Parts: sequence; structure tokens; C-alpha cells
Amino acid sequence: MQRRSVLAALGRALLGGQAAVEARCASGPATALARLFTAQPASQPSSVEPGDAEHSFRAQDLVIERSTVRQPPINLQDLKFGTVFTDHMFLAEHAAGHGWGVPAIKPLGMLQLHPACQVLHYGMCCFEGMKAYQGADGRVRLFRPERNMARLRRSARRLQLADFDPQELLACLKQLLLVDRSWLPVQEGYSIYIRPFAFASSGVLGVAKPTRTTLSILLSPVGPYFPTGLQPVSLFVDEHNRRAWPGGAGDCKIGGNYAPTIMPQVEAAQRHGVPQVLYTFKEAAQHPDEAQFEEAGAMNVFFYLQRRDGSRVLATPPLAGTILPGVTRDSILQLACSWGAEVGEVEERPVTIAEVREAHAEGRLLEMFGCGTACVVQPVGSLVRASGEVFTTAAPFDAQRSLAGRLQQALLDIQYGRVEHPWSVAVE
Ligand SMILES: *Cc1c(COP(=O)(O)O)cnc(C)c1O
Repeated sequence: MQRRSVLAALGRALLGGQAAVEARCASGPATALARLFTAQPASQPSSVEPGDAEHSFRAQDLVIERSTVRQPPINLQDLKFGTVFTDHMFLAEHAAGHGWGVPAIKPLGMLQLHPACQVLHYGMCCFEGMKAYQGADGRVRLFRPERNMARLRRSARRLQLADFDPQELLACLKQLLLVDRSWLPVQEGYSIYIRPFAFASSGVLGVAKPTRTTLSILLSPVGPYFPTGLQPVSLFVDEHNRRAWPGGAGDCKIGGNYAPTIMPQVEAAQRHGVPQVLYTFKEAAQHPDEAQFEEAGAMNVFFYLQRRDGSRVLATPPLAGTILPGVTRDSILQLACSWGAEVGEVEERPVTIAEVREAHAEGRLLEMFGCGTACVVQPVGSLVRASGEVFTTAAPFDAQRSLAGRLQQALLDIQYGRVEHPWSVAVE
């Protein structure tokens, strides 16, 4: 609570007393505000909180066993997300009483699990999603990787899996990328999707703290998310199913948050022809339109609105425990903030159905977009409610001039190393 309220108070002092608004930046210095955006709810242990990282595996102990199998060349034209994997994987195992075993890079292969292992019964698993990019200069880069390492550690902690040193895991990841670097397509728009994950591998049926943890990283080459340029999608506004709730674990990337989203997604596609769901949340006794937008199944969301006085505001729901703190979300907040008057005000605060309905009705709904590592920015052209009501943006999507398009371009320029930026971390 301490850190959050100090930051919130600092934000209010800096920005003129808007208690409901977590952070805004139109009038403040970008550097101070950048820090406000990283404020996390009290339930989220910060990465410096004492864990058991001092007993972590070490990258210097890595054992590398090279694959002798030659995989057939990949067809870049027809690369479906998450279907092709590189030759090697990272693997480390922890057992209570023994600590971490020797970390290894091994040929990609099957895992052997006891049929009673906890992950298969209670979903005790967590994951990350990040990418490695090859720039025109041939260097391999990661994007703000320390954020993903810290978030994986936080998710693992929520499941009471074994702790590790995030810097050591990052060093192991870099090694893995170098071993499999020939898999990184040189073509523009291609990257390697990186999937770190951890799970409870204890073969015991008790719902209890896991006594074994398996930590692994897979690499998967992926093509451009938008091969023909940014395309707006529709989202179904789910006012019935909840993705997360106050006091839950919606702010962790744990398996249990994703399995229950498949049915709402399938139903939205069947009933409304819209396969992607935008979750909402409201307390029981209020009017339905007072529900707040939360996020899509694996994307945070932004609304770009014009106020009645003509000023503009970029708003995204606040990190109050029910939303996954996206690295892309945070990066967009900081970029939009640094662009100043070009964007307007930038706010982390609740956005209700009523506000968007009104903006739509008055032609003030400028843009909507989702964001995440896979797509970077996903423009949203319309929101569809179960009642049949549809909210559309005031003008059709314009890839060049829209804020979503400019943010996408700015982020890709950083990720591919076309501009120098501290967020971009070279692997060698
Ligand atoms: C991973 C994820 C995001 C996006 O996070 P990034 O760090 O930007 O990739 C957003 N929402 C949910 C629910 C997610 O799982």
C-alpha cells in the first residue's frame, strides 16, 4: 500500500488533484510520470522483494547439449503462430530440499511427467510471452526483457513455485537465443516468439505448495502479425463472464486465468460472429452501462476519446489487480506521454460502457485498440454488445495517421533497432 499511495499522492501533487485518475501527463515532466505508470497495486510484490533468488541456478553453470537432428527448413510464407519450434529448449528443475539442479539447454524434446503431477490437476503453471528481433544490422534484440523476467517471478510466487534470480534466467535465455539464432528469420516483420514457463511437477495429489518446479523456455519463429498492414477487428463486449475480479489473480500470467476464457470466446464467435472478447467488470447492483472495460483475453485496451470541449484523451483501465500489467501497455503509456500535446492527455482510469456509448453517439470515439507482445497494437473498429448495440469509431481506421498506427510504428522501430532506445536490449 505504501508505495502505491506515495506514488498516487505524488501524481496528484504533480498533476492537479484528480484522485480517480492514476496518472496523467499532459502537464507534467515525462520522466517523473514515467515512474508513476509503473506503480503497481499493493498485492503485487515488487521485483526487489526478498525471495529465494540467492539460491537460484546460475547461467555460468549452463550445460549445453546440441541437437544432432536437422529439422526441415521452415516455410516462412505459411508460419502459423506457435506451431514451429527451434531445435533447443532451456530446462531447469527445482526440488524442495535439493534446490535447483544444473540448468540446461537441450534438444527440444518431450517431457516426462508423473500422471499425478499438480499442474495436470490444479493448473499450477505460469508463463511469459516476449520476442527477439533481428535488426537490419544483424543484431538480435529483446524488448524490455527484465519486465518479463520480473513478471514471471511474480506469477511463480503467486503459485508458490520455486523462486529464481531473474537476471540469471535472462542470461540463460540469451544463451538459448544464440544457440538457435539461425532460426531467427532475417525478413522484416519476423521474430522469434519466446515462451518462458514454469509449472508444478510434483507427482502428488495434494492441493498444497509444490515440492517440484520445472522451469523451461521454448522459442518459436513467427511471421508478421499483420502481413497486409494493420487491420481493425471487432470485439464482443462480454457483460456476463468475468476474466478476473478484485482479490483474484487476474494480474498474474497464470494458466488458470486463460483456460476459462475459451468458452466465452467460442460462444461470442457462435452467437455474435465476433471471436475476440473484451471483458468488463461491475459490482452487482449497478446499471449495466456502469460496467467498466477491463481487457481482452490477452490484450490490454486503450480508448482515444475527444471531450466535448474538443480536447483529446487517451485512456486505459488502471492496474487495480484485475488487469494484466502488460509491457506493451506500459510502453504505450510512456510513449504517448512523451509525445505531449500531439496526443492530448493520457490517463489510467476506469472507462465505462456509458462513456464509450456517449462518445460513439456524439462522434467523439476517435480510436480503440488492444495491445500485447504478439500484435504490438491491434486496432479495434467496433464493440458489439449482446443486446446488438454496436459502438464504432467516428472514422474508419487510417494506418498512417491514427495514433494506433503511429504507436505501432514507434514500437517496431525500437524493437528492430531502427532507433536507439534503452528499451531495446542487444543479446550479444
Ligand atoms: C500477456 C497479456 C497481455 C499483454 O502483455 P504484454 O506484456 O504487453 O505482452 C495483456 N493481457 C493479458 C491477459 C495477457 O495475458
